[in-house]
Amino acid sequence: MTVPRAGEFDLIARYFAPLAKTHPGAFGLLDDGAVFSEGGADWVVTTDTMVAGRHFAPETGPSRIARKLLRVNLSDLAAMGAVPRHYLLSASFPISTEEAWIADFAAGLDADQKTFGVSLIGGDTTATDGPAVFTVTALGTVEKGRALRRRGAVAGDRVFVSGTVGDGVLGLRAARGELDFLPATQRDYLVDRLELPSPRTTLGAALAGLAHAAIDVSDGLIADLGHIASASAVGMAVHWSDIPLSDAAAAAVARNDGLIEAVLTGGDDYEIAFTVPAARTDEMPAMAARLGVRLTPIGVVTAEPGVVAFDRRGAPMALPAPGYTHF
Ligand code: ADP
Ligand code: MG
Repeated sequence: MTVPRAGEFDLIARYFAPLAKTHPGAFGLLDDGAVFSEGGADWVVTTDTMVAGRHFAPETGPSRIARKLLRVNLSDLAAMGAVPRHYLLSASFPISTEEAWIADFAAGLDADQKTFGVSLIGGDTTATDGPAVFTVTALGTVEKGRALRRRGAVAGDRVFVSGTVGDGVLGLRAARGELDFLPATQRDYLVDRLELPSPRTTLGAALAGLAHAAIDVSDGLIADLGHIASASAVGMAVHWSDIPLSDAAAAAVARNDGLIEAVLTGGDDYEIAFTVPAARTDEMPAMAARLGVRLTPIGVVTAEPGVVAFDRRGAPMALPAPGYTHF
């Protein structure tokens, strides 16, 4: 098989977006999910695939693989402001897979179903000669017309991000043995964040009707802010010194400030980045307290296009690759 030369988003725009033209709620395949209406609420639908060796190490515990797969989909629902309801699972297990492995995979899903209030409603199961491939399609509901979009940010909005940024990519570095200068507890923390992200489902639902625009941080903070900026025809200015870091990430960056770029562009965080009208930013601390989620202002929406990150001294940072893309 030859690898296409165009990037992931070019391929989607060229070959798949034309197929989605007849359904306005597909948003030209440019958002975190699609919306369709049936009865009183709007339904949001999203799907994500994980391939062994590419999205997870094959030796990762099956329960963790399953839970991450479900959680990254719930993160996309959260980014659209939807409450998660159901999901479908398509699983291609390598032919050598033992039943005990599948039992553990299912047990992981069972645990997360209870945590997030979702139920499996269908899917497909096959065997494969290739690596394991798992796809979840998740469905959620949002009040009619209230789905959060990547578009909608306006100049003057404040930019917020939930939780902490950079743990996912640093977890990968830790798993590869590249952060051995950190204490084991901090390395374990980062790997846990990589393997078991916390989708911000309650936050997403609370932001519907308040945030102007939202996205989940999967490709890399700067790239994902760039998706909001281009969809909204605005720009953003963010400040490194405002970026919320876990203790482990802060320790890693303190030791090696070359990791700052990874934190800003690495992705796999599954936090929500969103913009809030300036007049409503004073509601954010109470929301953070009510939901038990850290919410940090990191910058402003500007009229000039492009996302600029400023370093500690206030100089614009050069970030050659703002985020991760497949292909
Ligand atoms: P996310 O990081 O939020 O999961 P992706 O980067 O995977 O989003 O995808 C970007 C957009 O392109 C989404 O709207 C997704 O539904 C759409 N998309 C990606 N691949 C395909 C495909 N093969 N067919 C249709 N839509 C696609
Ligand atoms: Mg997304």
